[in-house]
Amino acid sequence: MNEEIIEKLKQAIDPEKLKTDAATLQERRRDYSAPNELADLQGRGAPNPACVVQPENTRDVVKVVNVCRENKALLVPFGLGSGVCTGIVATPETILLDMSSMNRILSIDKHNLMATFEAGVRGSDAENALAKEGLTTGHYPQSIDLSTVGGWVSTRASGQFSSAYGNIEDVVMGLEVVLPNGEVLETRLTPRAAAGPDLKHIFMGSEGTMGIITAVTFSLRWKAEKQNYTAFYAATMEQGFELQRYIIQSGWMPPVMRQYDTTETKGKFEDCARGEDCIIIMVHEGPAARVDAEIKACQTLAKELNCDQAPVKTVTDWLEVRNHVGGFTEFLKRNITLDTIEIAATWDRIGPIYNNAIASLMEVDGMLSAAAHSSHCYRSGINLYFTFVAQVDDPSKMDATYEDCWRRVMQATIEGGGGIAHHHGIGRVRRDYMSAEIGASGVNLLRSLKKTLDPANILNPEVLIPHE
Ligand SMILES: Cc1cc2nc3c(=O)[nH]c(=O)nc-3n(C[C@H](O)[C@H](O)[C@H](O)COP(=O)(O)OP(=O)(O)OC[C@H]3O[C@@H](n4cnc5c(N)ncnc54)[C@H](O)[C@@H]3O)c2cc1C
Repeated sequence: MNEEIIEKLKQAIDPEKLKTDAATLQERRRDYSAPNELADLQGRGAPNPACVVQPENTRDVVKVVNVCRENKALLVPFGLGSGVCTGIVATPETILLDMSSMNRILSIDKHNLMATFEAGVRGSDAENALAKEGLTTGHYPQSIDLSTVGGWVSTRASGQFSSAYGNIEDVVMGLEVVLPNGEVLETRLTPRAAAGPDLKHIFMGSEGTMGIITAVTFSLRWKAEKQNYTAFYAATMEQGFELQRYIIQSGWMPPVMRQYDTTETKGKFEDCARGEDCIIIMVHEGPAARVDAEIKACQTLAKELNCDQAPVKTVTDWLEVRNHVGGFTEFLKRNITLDTIEIAATWDRIGPIYNNAIASLMEVDGMLSAAAHSSHCYRSGINLYFTFVAQVDDPSKMDATYEDCWRRVMQATIEGGGGIAHHHGIGRVRRDYMSAEIGASGVNLLRSLKKTLDPANILNPEVLIPHE
C-alpha cells in the first residue's frame, strides 16, 4: 500500500521532493511534546512515517492532497515540530507534509503595513526580514526560532507581547489554504469584512485537520519608538491580579505583563525575590510620550494597591533569557515527569483556579514543584501557565502520573469555569476535554465541519476532535 502511494506521489510531483531516507523520516515523526519524548526514551516512540513530502509551492500541496484523498492515505502537516500537545504522531502509513520547505517571503508592503509569507517560513526569519524594514508582526512566541508562521496559525499561538499587540488571530490578515478536496481558498485582504463568518477562523487552531495552510498575510506595525520597564511586588497572587486588572481596565496596555507566583519568583529572580512576594514584570512600548505616561500611571496604580516597585533588573534579565528553554530529556531520564499547561479565565475566576490547581497538583505522590505565572492579560481576564515537576518511583508509571497531573489542572479549570487552553492548542493531550470546553453541540459542530471538509478523514484525524 505504502509503495503504491509513494509511486503515485512520485508521478504527481517531482520525485526529488519525496524523501524516504531514515534520517528525514526520523526527524519528522513527531512533535516536541513530553509524551512523545518519553515514548522515545522508553523505546515505544512514534514510528517513521511512510514518506516525507517537501512541497515547493501551493500547486505541489494540491497534488499531494489529491493523491492522498483519492487513495485514503493519512496526511499530516508538519511545520517545525515545536508543538507541545502531541499534535503530530506518525504511523507507518502516514504521509508527512513537511511545510518548512515552503519558506519564501512573498511580499512586504510598507504602505499598507502587510506582509505575506509562505506557511513554512520560520518565525524568526519572518521577523528578521521585517526588522530590516523597521517593521514587526508584534508576535513573538518563545518558540520563534523553532516554529513556522503556518504552525502559529494552526495552533492559535500567542506571543510574549500579546497584552498590547494581540494573539495570532489579531495579527493575521489573510490566509491561503488548500482544502481537503484540492481547492485553494484565498481570503480577501481587507482591513475588515462584514461578509458572513470569518473563514480564517475555521483554520486557526485547526491543527492540520481542516486544510493545509500554504501562505499567511500579517498586518504589521512599525517598531516601537521607545521601550522601558517596570516591576512590582505583590503580597499574594490575588493582589497582583488586581494590579494587572486595574492597569488594563484603566486603558493602559503594557505589551508584556507577567506575574510569577512565590515559587517561580524565588526560582527565576533569586537576586530580587522579597520574602514570599510575587513579582510582576512589565515592558512598556510605543510612542515615547505614551510609554512615559503609562509608566507613571502604572506606578500610581501600584501605589494605590500597596504594590512596591521591584528592580527593573527583573525585566531586563527576563528579556535576555526569555527564549531559552531546557529540554525534557534529562528530567525524563531521571524518572521525573514534567510539563507546562496553560489555561485562561475571567478575573473573578482566576484566583480560585490557581489555588485549586496548585493544591491538587501538590497532592500527587512525588510532586517536587507545582507553580504558575500569568503571561497574557486582557480587559476581562488573564491566562495562567502552570508547570509541574514530579518524581515517579516506578518508570512504568510515568505516563499515569503525567496524565494525572494534566487531569488535575483540567479539572480545577473546568470546575472553576475557565477555558482549558490559552495558546498551545488541543492535540491529543487535551482532546478528551473538548466536550467540557465547547459542549456536546460544539463537538458535533466540529465533527460536521470535519466531515464536510474532509469526508475521507485523511487530514491529521486523531487530534482536536474527540472520538465519537
Ligand atoms: C520551547 C517552546 C516554547 C514555546 N513557546 C510558545 C509560545 O510562546 N506561544 C505559543 O503559542 N506556543 C509556544 N510553543 C508551542 C509551539 O511552538 C507552537 O504551538 C507553534 O505554533 C507550533 O509551530 P510549528 O511550526 O512548530 O508547528 P508544528 O509543531 O509542526 O505543528 C503544530 C500543529 O499544526 C499543524 N500544522 C503545522 N503547519 C501546518 C500548516 N501549514 N497547515 C496546517 N496545519 C499545520 C500540525 O499538523 C500540528 O497539528 C512553544 C514550544 C516550545 C517547544
